[in-house]
Amino acid sequence: MAKNRKQDTGRDPSKKELQEAERIQQLHPHLQKDHPSAVKSDISKLDHINTYGSLPDYYIDRPFTCRNCGKREIWRARDQKWYYEEAKGHTDAFALECHDCRIEKKTK
Ligand SMILES: [Zn+2]
Repeated sequence: MAKNRKQDTGRDPSKKELQEAERIQQLHPHLQKDHPSAVKSDISKLDHINTYGSLPDYYIDRPFTCRNCGKREIWRARDQKWYYEEAKGHTDAFALECHDCRIEKKTK
């Protein structure tokens, strides 16, 4: 079994990974949806964010800039799914921090 793969958290992405994530962002929604990195959402778990009218039916990797240090990282589709569906996060919670900044806060 190929089990020992490093968990891909989006931390310290390579240039290539970032470029690919940015490229996927530009794709037509229906191409995004069929992309291998897309993760299907569970609409029934998203009723806490229904104020926007349309709910996402999938997530894709999202490149972002850390609001704290300006570093570019990737917010993985499956982490978004967890954030919205399990942690009940809101869509407007957009300001994101990179892994390093989040860890630093926790240890303070
Ligand atoms: Zn940062």
